[in-house]
Amino acid sequence: MTLSIRNIIPIIKAQFVGTNEIAIIDSVSIDSRSLQNSDSTLFFAIVGPNHDGHLYIAELIENGVLNFVVNYIPKEFDGKANFLIVENTLDALQTFAAVYRSNFDFPIIGITGSNGKTIIKEWLNFLLSPDYNIIRSPKSYNSQVGVPLSVLGINEKHNLGIFEAGISLKNEMEHLQRIIQPTIGILSNIGSAHDEGFHDVGEKIKEKLKLFTSVEVLIMNKNKTIEAFLNPKINTFSWSSDDGKADVFIIAKETSDKTELKITYKKLCFTITIPFNDQASIENAIHCLMVLLYFNYNQEVIQERMLLLFPVEMRLKVKNGSNNTTIIDDSYSSDFQSLKIALDFLESQKQYKKKTLILSDIFQSGLVLEELYSKVSQLIVSNKIHRVIAIGETISSFKNKFPNCLAFDSTQKFIDAIDTISFENETILIKGARHFHFEEIVATLEEKTHETVLEINLNAISHNLNFFKSKLKPETKLMVMVKAFGYGNGGFEVAKLLSHHKVDYLGVAFADEGISLKNAGIDLPIMVLNPENTSFSAIIQHQLEPEIYSIKGLNAFLKIAESKKLQHFPIHIKLDTGMHRLGFEEETIDELITKLKGTKLVEVKSILSHLATSDDMKFVDFTLSQIKLFEKLSSKLMEELQINPIRHILNTSGISNFPQAQYDMVRLGIGLYGISNDDDEQKSLQNVGTLKSIISQIRTIDEGESVGYGRRFMAAKTTKVATIPIGYADGISRHWGNGVGYVVIKNKKAPILGSVCMDMLMVDITEIDCKEGSEVIIFGENPTVNFMAKQLGTIPYEIMTSISQRVKRVFYRE
Ligand SMILES: *Cc1c(COP(=O)(O)O)cnc(C)c1O
Repeated sequence: MTLSIRNIIPIIKAQFVGTNEIAIIDSVSIDSRSLQNSDSTLFFAIVGPNHDGHLYIAELIENGVLNFVVNYIPKEFDGKANFLIVENTLDALQTFAAVYRSNFDFPIIGITGSNGKTIIKEWLNFLLSPDYNIIRSPKSYNSQVGVPLSVLGINEKHNLGIFEAGISLKNEMEHLQRIIQPTIGILSNIGSAHDEGFHDVGEKIKEKLKLFTSVEVLIMNKNKTIEAFLNPKINTFSWSSDDGKADVFIIAKETSDKTELKITYKKLCFTITIPFNDQASIENAIHCLMVLLYFNYNQEVIQERMLLLFPVEMRLKVKNGSNNTTIIDDSYSSDFQSLKIALDFLESQKQYKKKTLILSDIFQSGLVLEELYSKVSQLIVSNKIHRVIAIGETISSFKNKFPNCLAFDSTQKFIDAIDTISFENETILIKGARHFHFEEIVATLEEKTHETVLEINLNAISHNLNFFKSKLKPETKLMVMVKAFGYGNGGFEVAKLLSHHKVDYLGVAFADEGISLKNAGIDLPIMVLNPENTSFSAIIQHQLEPEIYSIKGLNAFLKIAESKKLQHFPIHIKLDTGMHRLGFEEETIDELITKLKGTKLVEVKSILSHLATSDDMKFVDFTLSQIKLFEKLSSKLMEELQINPIRHILNTSGISNFPQAQYDMVRLGIGLYGISNDDDEQKSLQNVGTLKSIISQIRTIDEGESVGYGRRFMAAKTTKVATIPIGYADGISRHWGNGVGYVVIKNKKAPILGSVCMDMLMVDITEIDCKEGSEVIIFGENPTVNFMAKQLGTIPYEIMTSISQRVKRVFYRE
């Protein structure tokens, strides 16, 4: 894309304020963190319910971005850049993409439905890429923002597009139709996902069908309910397994790990095999098959390619590597668009400054090789990658284009040489096309820990943060508690995400937690709840801010402050209003005031207190009395000291139950991690952590035999037993054993047999079809941490923070 600002103004009907109307744009961005942003980027300041792109304009200008589409010009930047002012920046982005799309007239496949969109898209890409230069949505970019960004990736060399469209509300599809303008439609499975946004199934179907208003053909599973809503003018190409009127009739025969599909189409009758046997994969594969038939592929090619379909991994995962490295694992795809996304993710997640990229040959860009690798090189340079390891014959021949490049013809050659290459103190992005089998590289570089992992969904954290933000007045500040390693969910990674979301403060319990965040490059202010006197020096050195809760602590801090000749060092005054844990009591306030009046060494940045019963409406009166006392004591401090600090008293359940006491800031904790003690509110939150393991061994025991220590489980009948490598040393309570708790395997409950051991537990899988190596869910969507806590007579906080550090954390973004 190359367009001048002058050309773009009329397209999005903008008012131009700036100096350089002939500036040339070659890319579009909505992500302030992207290092790909440059002086030729057009940045759209998107405004969501809890997100405002305008807040990032200052740092973007500082980083050299010059062109912005905005709803208004933030005051201080008038004259500093080119601003295109529009009524709604999202509309403008969509219109821009729609107009851009109209310049191309090759076939475009548009996919919608409730399930399977991304898999169908990825499989079609695989099946058709030998014959086409394909542009497709990266990952599952199918939203109101993701679709325009995907479409803007089209270039002159492409001759087929595959885009997915996802909606959750009425009236969204029209926008996506206008942007994608599909010529071939695919309606995948209509399940029950996102039903809450629609009145009924009919309304949902009608909305989805709006993607297909001007397609030349719609590919679908023949279905009377859907046909009833379909405009009869739309030409369909349908399949069915029970309705002989469909264009293609298919009978599926499943075997232990494959499915044979017997296909009858016109006069043709033939059989293909796909390497899956679950219902969802079969349907997705059939939709792909239909496209091949529509494109007149012959039966041999169809048979050959469909046999090679593969499981699709949609996530970018962050893992710990050996020697202080972080690995970003994107080892299943390699195309230009997804490389851009992965590089942005690398930047947002890097824990070590030094960055290495391991990259395979790139496919399906539509560009000639020389041009493609020049563009890749630009991308790598702008992302400040220190070292590139190029794997594959093609990319190797362009190795001179990359900084510090080591080149290998094949993955095996690289793995053979891996011991001679040092990897330490760096972040490594591993990105390769499927057949390069980069998962072997990941396995080699990954820290060797056992099979149990706690997977953390970073999107869910953002969602939950925004949910609580939406409950606050716009001016209320937000402190997020990341103590105890982010409630067990990861300190640095969570903090990094929170700094992007521009929360105002982080809170930790002890100085060393704050120090490790600061050392990892987190620059948000951090309050330390429980600083020990011995840690005051370190607190000062690392610019942490102590909570002071006693005269003794204040004296100790002032002494050190004096010796270091500090001035106005920020401290936080904690008042005890009824929790009786830490804090100044009413009787000590006068002394506190006298002390503070006489010093300029410190400045009271905030005054806080903590509620003991904000989660329990039985104690409303008690909470209100705490708030009242807080009001009284904090007001007194403010008046007598003539100060205007930030006041805060609410934790998560306080935010929900006592919104009138937001004061100037709130302290969000457990809610961020997806837990509420209110059933309704729980429905609005997304699950963050999933604790997973695998089956180590399976055996069958006879009636009368026992399992585990103390023979505490006795089999009453023949029982199939699986051993899972997770035990109480990993944080699974022993009370969860002996029939109380269960794990989930293949969506079925497997009760725990006998006692939980230190490193293992055994479960009953008599009714479950699974193998050694099968995935096991300990908690997540089911059972939830909340449910476990109730059964165990404890609280979710304890369960989450008990997961031991030997359990590997893997962070991912969808
Ligand atoms: C942990 C903590 C919070 C957060 O509590 P949640 O119930 O997790 O929201 C807030 N304030 C203080 C002082 C805390 O110790």
